[in-house]
Amino acid sequence: MTCQESEQYIQEFVDDALTGERLEVFLWHISNCKACYNEMETSYLLKEALARLEDGTSFDLHSELKEKIQIMEQYIRWHNLAAVVRRIILTVAGLFLVWEMMYLYLYYL
Ligand SMILES: [Zn+2]
Repeated sequence: MTCQESEQYIQEFVDDALTGERLEVFLWHISNCKACYNEMETSYLLKEALARLEDGTSFDLHSELKEKIQIMEQYIRWHNLAAVVRRIILTVAGLFLVWEMMYLYLYYL
């Protein structure tokens, strides 16, 4: 992902609308690109600060943002784990099918 692409995803990320592979690539980019991280942080802080000013609650936005990123990274890890499990199940099912066909082939020959 380039910085230009990353900029397009910042708003979606801040609005919790970024998911799946795009979220993963975006998180990777901002953890390796200080400029994009700063830009994302500014958007996030601005949005949240405006919302909090309206309802008057106190806040620690920097740690909330770190928490949000951690939750998103955890989500991505589970997402990837689920993909691996899915692949294993398909492989086992495939092997079972091959075994079954060989058995039938040998049995009826
Ligand atoms: Zn960047």
